Amino acid sequence: MSIIRFNALQETLRRKPIKVQQSEKRSTLFGQNVFNKYAMQQYLTRSAYESVMNAIEHGTRIDRKIADQVAVSMKDWAMSKGATHYTHWFQPLTGATAEKHDAFFESINGSLAMEKFDGEQLVQQEPDASSFPTGGIRNTFEARGYTAWDPTSPAFIYERTLCIPTIFVAYTGEALDNKTPLLRALQAIDTHATAVCKYFDKTISKVNATLGWEQEFFLVDNALALSRPDIQLTGRTLLGHFSAKGQQLDDHYFGIIPVRVMSFMQDLEEECMLLGIPVKTRHNEVAPNQFEVAPIFEEANLAVDHNSLLMDVMQKVAKRHNFRVLFHEKPFAGINGSGKHNNWSLSLDNGTNLLSPGKTPMKNLQFLTFFVNTIKAVYEYEELLRASVVSAGNDFRLGASEAPPPIISVFIGNQLSAVLDELENVTKGKLSPQEKTDLKLNIIGKIPEILLDNTDRNRTSPFAFTGNKFEFRAVGSSANCAGPMTVLNTIVAKQLKEFKIEVDKLIETKSLKKDEAVFNVLREYIKESKKIRFDGDGYGDAWEKEAVKRGLSNNKNTPEALKIITSDKVVSLYEEMDVMSKVEVEARYEIKLEEYTKRMQIESRVLADVARNHVVPTAIIYQNTLLENTKNLKEIFGDEFKKIAKEQVELIMVISNHITEINALVIKMEEQRSKANKQNGLKSAQQYCNKVKPFFEEIRFHCDQLETMVDDNIWPLTKYRELLFTR
Ligand code: ADP
Ligand code: MG
Repeated sequence: MSIIRFNALQETLRRKPIKVQQSEKRSTLFGQNVFNKYAMQQYLTRSAYESVMNAIEHGTRIDRKIADQVAVSMKDWAMSKGATHYTHWFQPLTGATAEKHDAFFESINGSLAMEKFDGEQLVQQEPDASSFPTGGIRNTFEARGYTAWDPTSPAFIYERTLCIPTIFVAYTGEALDNKTPLLRALQAIDTHATAVCKYFDKTISKVNATLGWEQEFFLVDNALALSRPDIQLTGRTLLGHFSAKGQQLDDHYFGIIPVRVMSFMQDLEEECMLLGIPVKTRHNEVAPNQFEVAPIFEEANLAVDHNSLLMDVMQKVAKRHNFRVLFHEKPFAGINGSGKHNNWSLSLDNGTNLLSPGKTPMKNLQFLTFFVNTIKAVYEYEELLRASVVSAGNDFRLGASEAPPPIISVFIGNQLSAVLDELENVTKGKLSPQEKTDLKLNIIGKIPEILLDNTDRNRTSPFAFTGNKFEFRAVGSSANCAGPMTVLNTIVAKQLKEFKIEVDKLIETKSLKKDEAVFNVLREYIKESKKIRFDGDGYGDAWEKEAVKRGLSNNKNTPEALKIITSDKVVSLYEEMDVMSKVEVEARYEIKLEEYTKRMQIESRVLADVARNHVVPTAIIYQNTLLENTKNLKEIFGDEFKKIAKEQVELIMVISNHITEINALVIKMEEQRSKANKQNGLKSAQQYCNKVKPFFEEIRFHCDQLETMVDDNIWPLTKYRELLFTR
């Protein structure tokens, strides 16, 4: 086995950076392989173009004749760029992307052939996707699933295949994917945010949610990754002694990007440009071999698709550069894990950011309205927001000392806190002209100046206001952003709906002016949601205690955190906002639990295999060497050997001890595992979480101890220092 490790190391050391030709300016490359507005204008008839734009902007239906036209033009465009196939591209509940390619090619009478693609094929397909998780939806209804074109996310060409973003739904209407609920949530936020905007500007007719994700990841040489069964099968290291040097010196963060990684990044960025993914930022992250890429933010649905696409493209480009991308939230113990901060805001069609203060007091009141309503929404649904970021991997990251805790709180900084504190004192009911002027000039009038120099950022907060957007930092690096974005937009939509009802009521029944009513409702919201605001150290134990006092949830693991999503409060929220039905919610609950259980099951099996079949036999080989050595010493030195071979004898005993422990622990873990496997749903997940998982650390401890004792020459598993520092 150790042969694999050393071969892998040699292979890695021989690697040369793969040269990437800079082909053209980024701006020239941008969107070349996307059927965007520009391509549509060139290829579509005027009426087809208008019909598609209407569908994108106002959600209108595209009729069949037009769909035929669009399909033919799309095919011509794609073929002009070398595409031979097309696929509906969707995001089933595995969280990954799915595709099934069909050639444009069709034969006529067996002797002639042509390329064809029509409206039917564009608009709807029925992939035989019976193996995707459905959480019982399809069993219950015996319905098949189909994919349907989502014109709001443009088609693109990747690897000579025309990819058409689609939703994936059962024939009975239930969503079988992540995108459908997201689109419905975006519809809800548009409706309710637009209604609220009309208080400030009657002409506003559309509000978009925006998302800018920051993707963190690790890169490991492909040969080294392949040499580790745990990385290979679980995406993380299940054992491995810490490297003497880790991230202590902070010498990686924002440092010079390693040469091979730089080539990878350049290659990746070119691919992203062609695909219209507006990546802008790249840098080294805190941990060795950890990096980040981030785009310019976009409309949320497009941004979600772009992140999913990016993750696929990254793996493919990485292969060319002999790297493996680790998206796992905690691939290595003892150093930072990876997250995917979701920067979120609301914007108007003309680009105005609703979470950015404006130039007039009225614009600032609009800003405050959206700001306070978001805080209130997070307060009301903090447990659901927490549930939106669950995963087996993120359980290892949240609450570790480098990532936000599983307790949701909102950071707004002391200056905005001061503004909210002032607003708490606004008079109930009608305001005097004096108070109004004072509010406008001295309180909300001062906000822009405040934000300009509001640079203190609390990195420990899971949900932080960073000047003109909220940054949701609890999202895991492997997550599909659709989950958290669906929740965030739904809860804010619901909150804005409530807000409008309350403001309207005050205007009608108490005959308050619009701005007076807004101030009155905001005042109450600020008071009610105070408990969610926390600007202190989110990593400390003190906060955990304080959060309990405040009644905030602190669900530390997936099975516990998930429970909330089938509660009456959450189900009625989704139903009221038309985002998901009870059946759809329950299906997602079941799928999430099952995914958790399966991941834990796989990790447990891999760990048992590696511990027993790799670590223990190696320890025995080394122990035999020691025994042989001791026997020889005895032969030569007689009784004196006891003194000379003292260390060896002790080591033999220590090794025996670890071997015994490993075997006993693996047996116990397997007993617990088989109990878990006899249960299902929540019970099984809880059994894995509470009874199986604790063995991971214990078994690892003994294996890692052996790693420090056994001759390096025969150790089979590539070591942390090699995984983290060879590049
Ligand atoms: P950092 O948080 O690392 O300091 P920035 O604050 O510059 O970085 O931005 C991080 C991300 O936030 C980027 O992807 C950026 O596009 C995104 N972002 C900026 N403004 C908005 C917005 N209005 N809506 C959504 N995302 C935004
Ligand atoms: Mg950030």
